[in-house]
Amino acid sequence: MSEYFSNIKTATTTIATGLTITLRHFINAVKRKGDAGIDDADFFRQVDGLCTLQYPREVMPTPANARYRLYNNIDDCIGCNQCDRACPVECITIETIKVTADDLAICGKTSGGQQKRMWVPVFDIDVAKCMTCGICVSVCPTECLVHTPVADFSEFDVRNMVYHFGNLSKIEAQAKTKKLEEEKAAKAKAAEAAAASGQAPVPKPAPKPAPKPAGDQAGE
Ligand code: SF4
Ligand code: SF4
Repeated sequence: MSEYFSNIKTATTTIATGLTITLRHFINAVKRKGDAGIDDADFFRQVDGLCTLQYPREVMPTPANARYRLYNNIDDCIGCNQCDRACPVECITIETIKVTADDLAICGKTSGGQQKRMWVPVFDIDVAKCMTCGICVSVCPTECLVHTPVADFSEFDVRNMVYHFGNLSKIEAQAKTKKLEEEKAAKAKAAEAAAASGQAPVPKPAPKPAPKPAGDQAGE
């Protein structure tokens, strides 16, 4: 008989414990998990509350140093093409125009003080292809190409996934190309005129190879 009542007691206690846990979660579910970002030390300790995000009205926060969508601070880009050459999936497209002597001051310097010698009318990154490997970022000599914490950039039209960072419009690029061609033509004309008047620069003779040490000659 005592075992009969003992079983009833165990069953009642078990049901009460289970219902208490259910009730606690039910009460906690009316409040959010918290607004701490995932870089917050105790983000994953917040076990109570709703964790489902109401996407797209809400998005998962990302740490400030997260390595997601790329951004090029074009004011510091020298158009060296290293990022394009290093990209394993060829998602960077760059077109450059050499800066004419007249425009060097207009083109300006990078924030690190380096004179820019290239206009960069086209600097496109197809982020639909980009796998955020960061190789381009690591080879950039001016550190103008960086990852951003922007992780959510979905689009209805895949063509909108190409991001443009160029520093010239098409019309401006045409004008700069024309100016460069004119400068080249003027230089060629000046060189021709100098040659015709006998003032062409005399080419320097090639340096003679240094004689090999006697020991090396013996070994040949
Ligand atoms: S992060 Fe990687 S895949 Fe993306 S553009 Fe740079 S090198 Fe290419
Ligand atoms: S490596 Fe950097 S400086 Fe060179 S073209 Fe790319 S973004 Fe510009």
